[in-house]
Amino acid sequence: MFDITKIVRPNILALQPYSSARDEFTGSAGIFLDANENPFGALNRYPDPLQKELKQRIAEIKSVSPENIFLGNGSDEAIDLCYRIFCEPGIDKALTFTPTYGMYQVSAAINNVTLVNLPLTCDFQVDFNRLSKVLEDDTVKLLFICSPNNPTGNTLKGVETIIKNFKGIVVVDEAYADFSGTSLVATLHNYPNLIVLQTLSKAWGLATVRIGMAFASTPITALFNKVKPPYNISMLNYTAALKALGNTEQYGQQVKLLVAERNKMAGALSRLPMVTKVYPSKANFLLVEVTNADAVYQKLAAQGIIIRNRNKVVANCLRISIGTPDENRILLNALQQIT
Ligand code: PMP
Repeated sequence: MFDITKIVRPNILALQPYSSARDEFTGSAGIFLDANENPFGALNRYPDPLQKELKQRIAEIKSVSPENIFLGNGSDEAIDLCYRIFCEPGIDKALTFTPTYGMYQVSAAINNVTLVNLPLTCDFQVDFNRLSKVLEDDTVKLLFICSPNNPTGNTLKGVETIIKNFKGIVVVDEAYADFSGTSLVATLHNYPNLIVLQTLSKAWGLATVRIGMAFASTPITALFNKVKPPYNISMLNYTAALKALGNTEQYGQQVKLLVAERNKMAGALSRLPMVTKVYPSKANFLLVEVTNADAVYQKLAAQGIIIRNRNKVVANCLRISIGTPDENRILLNALQQIT
């Protein structure tokens, strides 16, 4: 039987969370003199700390219960809170599969947690032999799996096997899942140790709004709510998100268009002489191997076209986001001119 209290840091278990008068009062009131706000203006009130209406809307879209949702100031906040909840600084460890999203490492360092980096195989999959050796270390409390993975673009196989066999918490970062059409959100009820991260920053086109979602069992979302800053989602962002989530049609059309553009770009890029490999992608970006990544990066930058040089992470590789059809065409033209 999975026992969450064995994984949580003892100080977090014992923590008395911050509570405001508005959390405690459940009736309806017309006069609020409890939070030292300025009584004048349109932006003068603190936002709802539990974001009830927005969670209700996300719950409908994702077919989960609102209690299984935590909202962070970007999924970056949820990543940070995972370390704070589950890893005792200087003692516990976390694990991830590299190359992957850089914030797992940065957040680990900020929280004084050692992150074990297990290299993916040459086709960017989990090396299960090495994983089972590493997991003999029971100070590893947290495991980050990014699928589709940034920057490689592929989905990882065997994720559910890992969740079933790992005694700690598995965070599956699905920031790009809208583009792959696969998600573990529907399996949440099977796995009390699973946290699925998604974001409004990619397919929903709301990167400026900074809203990330963690889907998990209620004991886990309760822990997130206990440690989060009380007003972590701004009311302006909240309102913008609610409005955008009302238009699932535009979301669906954009995802379809970006996936089609991705597939077209993969073909077109692979025909360029400088390109030695385009890795298959299920995300809204492509990892592209070229003969000289630094030179290509510099030449594009000189023309005002910024891509991501990942040469130091995967030799001679560039990560290219899928833009509008016009932007993609301009990029292809620019690459054709580069010798
Ligand atoms: N996870 C992955 C894999 C990402 O690539 C990113 C953004 N680049 C994030 C999380 C962070 O997203 P957010 O904007 O929700 O903080």
